[in-house]
Amino acid sequence: SGPFLSVRDLYVQFATEDGVVKAVDGLSFDLERGRTLGIVGESGSGKSVTNLAVLGLHNPRNTTIRGEIVLDGQELTGASERTLERLRGRKMAMIFQDSLTALSPYYTVGRQIAEPYMKHMGASRKAARERAIEMLARVGIPQPRLRVDDFPHQFSGGMRQRAMIAMALVCDPALVIADEPTTALDVTVQAQILDLLKDLQRETGTAIVIITHDLGVVANTADDVMVMYAGRCVERGTVREILKSPEHPYSWGLLASIPRLSAPVDLPLSPIPGAPPSLLNPPSGCPFHPRCAFAEEVGGGRCATVRPGIPEDERRGFACHLGRERKREIFTGQIQPR
Ligand code: SF4
Ligand code: MG
Repeated sequence: SGPFLSVRDLYVQFATEDGVVKAVDGLSFDLERGRTLGIVGESGSGKSVTNLAVLGLHNPRNTTIRGEIVLDGQELTGASERTLERLRGRKMAMIFQDSLTALSPYYTVGRQIAEPYMKHMGASRKAARERAIEMLARVGIPQPRLRVDDFPHQFSGGMRQRAMIAMALVCDPALVIADEPTTALDVTVQAQILDLLKDLQRETGTAIVIITHDLGVVANTADDVMVMYAGRCVERGTVREILKSPEHPYSWGLLASIPRLSAPVDLPLSPIPGAPPSLLNPPSGCPFHPRCAFAEEVGGGRCATVRPGIPEDERRGFACHLGRERKREIFTGQIQPR
């Protein structure tokens, strides 16, 4: 059998008043059970959209999706809303950035955790309430039996985030997608939440996708990393490969923005200038070329005209025209960034 989650040649486009936004522009990746994939990029890189497409949460009226998304042998592109609805919650779940939007202020925390358990697992109200208490305990809420009837506003931010994780995991989903799950939290709580996800993964073998702009988050949680830019994957590999020997200039820039990571000393580290490109009108050739300090070094104007790619089946790869020799010159300081 194939990988647990397999995405092949995915394109996601939105029709807007100004034209067509190419949010995801030919993306392929695999994810196995029990592993964590970190998808990293600036906002507007397509990382969230990719996962909304996997979950079938895009708006079909203005969105076109092409390509293949296969979850545990089941094709999701073109699946009916009924099929997707059944899969969401039971087989796949999403943890959002902001617990205030994911949790309703009008219902108790316990009821919101119990609801999907009744709906998807056919549990009785009583059994689902017991399950909610068990889940609150599992995510580290003290005295869960006393807190189960609290409303979200009675919880602290960190507790609400935990409650949201409890809600996402109540049916033991095989795939969990966490979109910037810790950005709104202080550093200590962030670390606790990420540890919690890893613990749950060890217990249940869940496959996890963590979407983040922060390579630091990925360093502590992911097995594999996919770096996205302008709706494409520009580099992928194991977390160790990406952190210790990144090959793409955009990855170098991302690493430069997290001084707390010990980056390889010989990298030409400097933060990325400018802003991400418009996806209405993406740059020709390499989408990073307007911001890349090394585009001139490639020669022949290739960076602006020829789109670099990663062979679909290559586990480790990067989309950049810079040759090995040029890179060596950059690393040894013979070439300075523009
Ligand atoms: Fe920079 Fe050219 Fe490589 Fe793109 S292909 S990252 S512009 S050197
Ligand atoms: Mg996002």
